[in-house]
Amino acid sequence: MTEHESTGPGPTRRQALTGVAVLGTAATLGGTAAQAAAADSAGTTAGAPGIGQSPIGVGRQVPDRALRELLAHVDPARLEATVRKLVSFGTRHTLSSQTDPARGIGAATDWVFAQLQAAAAASGGRMTVERQSFVQPAGPRIPVPTTITNVIATLRGTAATERVYVVTGHLDSRVTDVLNFTDDAPGADDDGSGVAAVLEMARLFAPHSFPGTLVFAVVAGEEQGLFGSAFLAAQMKSAGTDVQGMFSNDIVGASSAWDGTAPDPHTVRLFVEGVPTSETPAQTAVRQSVGGENDGPSRQLARFAQDVAVNDATDMDIRVVWRRDRYLRGSDHVSFLQQGYPAARFTEPRENFDHEHQDVRVENGVQFGDLPQFCDFRYIARVTRVNAATLWSLAAGPGTPKGFVILTTPPPGFSGINTTTLKWTRGDDAGLAGYEVVLRETTSPVWTEALAVGDVTTVTLPIAKDNVQFGLRAVDVAGLRSPVAFPTVG
Ligand SMILES: [Zn+2]
Repeated sequence: MTEHESTGPGPTRRQALTGVAVLGTAATLGGTAAQAAAADSAGTTAGAPGIGQSPIGVGRQVPDRALRELLAHVDPARLEATVRKLVSFGTRHTLSSQTDPARGIGAATDWVFAQLQAAAAASGGRMTVERQSFVQPAGPRIPVPTTITNVIATLRGTAATERVYVVTGHLDSRVTDVLNFTDDAPGADDDGSGVAAVLEMARLFAPHSFPGTLVFAVVAGEEQGLFGSAFLAAQMKSAGTDVQGMFSNDIVGASSAWDGTAPDPHTVRLFVEGVPTSETPAQTAVRQSVGGENDGPSRQLARFAQDVAVNDATDMDIRVVWRRDRYLRGSDHVSFLQQGYPAARFTEPRENFDHEHQDVRVENGVQFGDLPQFCDFRYIARVTRVNAATLWSLAAGPGTPKGFVILTTPPPGFSGINTTTLKWTRGDDAGLAGYEVVLRETTSPVWTEALAVGDVTTVTLPIAKDNVQFGLRAVDVAGLRSPVAFPTVG
């Protein structure tokens, strides 16, 4: 195509960083100034002022009517019922009974399976539910080989080339002694809250159809060593599954620490790594040559979540934390990071360690234990909405661009160092309208400029690649955007 397409809503917003006109594209290298001006005028606007304090980039995407309706149906009462039902199994410890019909991990797994099957009934056959079982060999936190079972609901997408988005909560629970599988381990917050969010999303998403495939996974064996998610992520990797985003919801049940610190009921933390866990020595060498410590795919995923899920429909702010997880700790997203997939972890803004991994007891008048009475179900509903807005936007919009490189040899007529030529592979998304190059100062936490370049696969810009960061995102005919891809050396 030789036409630039106007893919960004809103008026022109020229900003100091770029003032950019496209110098050339695949079809229009050496093209007219009018063409360049047309591309420039399609630049997107910065988002409207948001709630909260988080910096939001140029990708602010307002929920459409269908998404708003789904978010409005997230039900705190149903989330509470799920958490209380999970607590009613007494313990969900990985080593607890797998056959007792009322108590233990087996009964809880059966109940979750039934819930997801009920959700799938509304999907017209697009959602399938499976138990994914494997035997975990004995190890430090597993004294005997133990069967571990994930329950996975997959809502199959319609895209020609499958891309997948995964959301998890973990079913297992624990008390003070990680090997104690007999005492009550209610696990209301850790991680009944995350499981409740996943079940609620499966129920609400099932009637809908998306280009992207959504995987709602209730994983197991987390407390013993992330075993369930490690198996799931490894299975996906060996199957060649293109996971373009994964979120762990682990401890998302309360906004107040109940310990005197101020509550923060409209914030959820999102822990996200910079340099990828899976980075190879060769990739390290490239990164050291070109930069990008703050531009791993997980960081782009977090920026996307802020752009699409901090709004009046979620009534939430996302406090992004540039750290893989809490200090010295981990959750199921790490399993996906280890397989090279972009992933991050949602967790509540405050923690009260009297309620985490504790024997249920009263000491000096203080109640210890992970009990439902310490959960805030309206807060869990808001966190569920943050997840739902993010997953919807990922699955409904175009896939993350692939094959994105900065060409080190400029095209003829553009020699010299003060230009940058970008090149990528065109995606096969049905509604693909074109691409936006995004830019920012290297020190900015979010993308600050967007330049619509049309349905092309290369562009040359009058900006030295030494001084700024470039990214690329796809835009569809409805104006939905993909997460940003970060270029490697071409
Ligand atoms: Zn947990």
